[in-house]
Amino acid sequence: MTVVTTFFAEHAWLDGGVTPNTRITVHSGRIAAVQASGPQRGDLPLPGLVLPGLANTHSHAFHRALRGRTHAAAGTFWTWRERMYAVAARLDPDSYFALARATYCEMALAGVTAVGEFHYLHHAPDGRPYRDPNIMGHALRAAAREAGIRLTLLDACYLTGGIGQPLEGPARRFGDGTVSAWAERVAALGADDLSLVGAAIHSVRAVPRDALPEVVEAAGGRPLHLHLSEQPAENEQCLAAYDVTPTQLLALAPPSQREAYRSPLAMVEGYTESAHSYGAFGKHSDRSTILWHCLQERLTENVAPPKCG
Ligand SMILES: [Zn+2]
Repeated sequence: MTVVTTFFAEHAWLDGGVTPNTRITVHSGRIAAVQASGPQRGDLPLPGLVLPGLANTHSHAFHRALRGRTHAAAGTFWTWRERMYAVAARLDPDSYFALARATYCEMALAGVTAVGEFHYLHHAPDGRPYRDPNIMGHALRAAAREAGIRLTLLDACYLTGGIGQPLEGPARRFGDGTVSAWAERVAALGADDLSLVGAAIHSVRAVPRDALPEVVEAAGGRPLHLHLSEQPAENEQCLAAYDVTPTQLLALAPPSQREAYRSPLAMVEGYTESAHSYGAFGKHSDRSTILWHCLQERLTENVAPPKCG
């Protein structure tokens, strides 16, 4: 049975800007109509200005536990990451759920109604899958549901601890070993009526160059995000290993490699969204690539707002 609720907004932010006298009809939780109208009997009044829900396109819910604890002394991305790994090492499905629920509730109270969760804390502390290998993703879904916020679960492929380096310590929780194992696990997430399943390449230091096309193919046209270029050392390591920057690796591969990079090339030029993009601007950025910064964290080497030329 469809439940119909009507609201009357004194002022609403519509396509044309702030508009007075707007009536909003909701069918079972979904907006069915927005009309210019005075109040009618039974309308629920919405005083002040009504805004559309905001979207937080890049979240690491568990990083919320770091806020206010990583800036007392000068540090780097890498010292920040040590603190992040310490949190990652302690979480289990229950505490992950509780932390994510609190984080999503904060977002909802701030007007955020949809979140893209860049999810890589997949497995048990020793790196082995839980009995349900998607239990941490399910915890995020449950947290979003209880907070009343829509979720796109951007499940991240994370294979290496650096270019040519194995995963070690808490980072073992992130990895599935191979792209096919990652894709098989993500496929098992299944449908959910309040969330979408997307995909992510954690970064070029976490997914080897040769594996990038396989990840893109497995994503199959779903939302695909990545950390394009998180900080200077990553750029230098990418240059040393591949003789190109992370952005070039995805977008400007040499002609001999274009076929292998066909999918990532399309990805960058098409619909990729990237975060933490240190040094990704200028001639190598593309106007169809969306760049944003994470609100939960505040990286010590990456706090300046981007300047897009
Ligand atoms: Zn991030």
